[in-house]
Amino acid sequence: MFIALGISLLIPVILAVSAALGVTGFGLAAWSAALILALALGFYALFRIGLNLRFDDPSLTREMLVAAVLCVALFSYWAGQARPALELFYPMAVVFGALRFSARRLLGITIVALLAHALMLTVWQINHPGVDGMGSLLDFVALAIVLPCFAAVCAFVNSLRTRLSDSNSKLTEALARIERIAVRDELTGLYNRRFLMDFLAREVDRVRRSGGGYAVCMIDIDHFKDINDKFGHGAGDAVLRHFASVVERAMRSIDVLGRLGGEEFLVVLPDASIAGARNCAERIRQAVEGSVFPGLPSDYHVTVTAGVVWSGPREMTTDLLARADAALYSGKAAGRNRVVAVG
Ligand code: GH3
Ligand code: MG
Ligand code: MG
Repeated sequence: MFIALGISLLIPVILAVSAALGVTGFGLAAWSAALILALALGFYALFRIGLNLRFDDPSLTREMLVAAVLCVALFSYWAGQARPALELFYPMAVVFGALRFSARRLLGITIVALLAHALMLTVWQINHPGVDGMGSLLDFVALAIVLPCFAAVCAFVNSLRTRLSDSNSKLTEALARIERIAVRDELTGLYNRRFLMDFLAREVDRVRRSGGGYAVCMIDIDHFKDINDKFGHGAGDAVLRHFASVVERAMRSIDVLGRLGGEEFLVVLPDASIAGARNCAERIRQAVEGSVFPGLPSDYHVTVTAGVVWSGPREMTTDLLARADAALYSGKAAGRNRVVAVG
């Protein structure tokens, strides 16, 4: 609204220049400024009391543009030789409308401007018969040709702008999708192996810089092949998905869970001690054992075995993962459904 007001106030400025050049009187400049400010205050009051919300477009752009166009026509009546200078404000209104309006509405503003100008010229001719009739007619014909063309060009530019912003938002969506696909496992929605490896590398960097350590917990679902064999691959998939949600609920918010592949998962526990990580793994083990999995009989208990290891700043992630794997498989060898933690 303030931009519109700023542009509208250029009308009294031009009329003041025209008065200084002796073309019009200073009175016209003064009362054009007064009328524009009064209209601006009126619109401001509508916004303040919230009446604008009752309009289909609460920005009131159309109403403000119609008011501006009518003002230009009105001032043009007394503007004399300054009239062509004021007529420049019609295309200005169209440009302003192009920022928000469809081509149809833009055409509407153009028609209002032409009708208002034609009415002004007619009244002027009635009151001043024979004075510059042909000049006024030529003025109007030029306006009637140029203004719709101007509106059409603005509408075209606007449609290009809309298409550009549409394709920009599609591009942003596609980028977000690609980013998600790059780091997420399709079946469970958990982070994938690639993300886990990057996260571990960053964790090693962090620990090297600030000291301390971190833990990882490698989890493998017990006898998962049996689930597939007994209940089908679809049920197996559903178990993997449900498993992911059960584990997520048992973790701390700063821990990161991902799928290494198949029925093997990894939880990275930044800043955790081996005891803390072991407790977390035990919570996960119990939560899985106590959960009823969709697609499986309610008395079927899915269990997991977990290998938990802790690392300081010096260990390579490959060595850490090999130790976690060894801990996990010692748990499998010891009878499954258990947590094996190694400091
Ligand atoms: P263990 O207790 O020793 O871990 O036995 P297990 O049966 O869980 O392990 P095994 O490695 O013998 O079998 C894993 C099975 O997991 C075999 C494979 O078909 C299945 N599997 C791997 N990925 C998927 C998947 O995305 N969906 C389903 N439904 N099954 C999968
Ligand atoms: Mg398994
Ligand atoms: Mg396995």
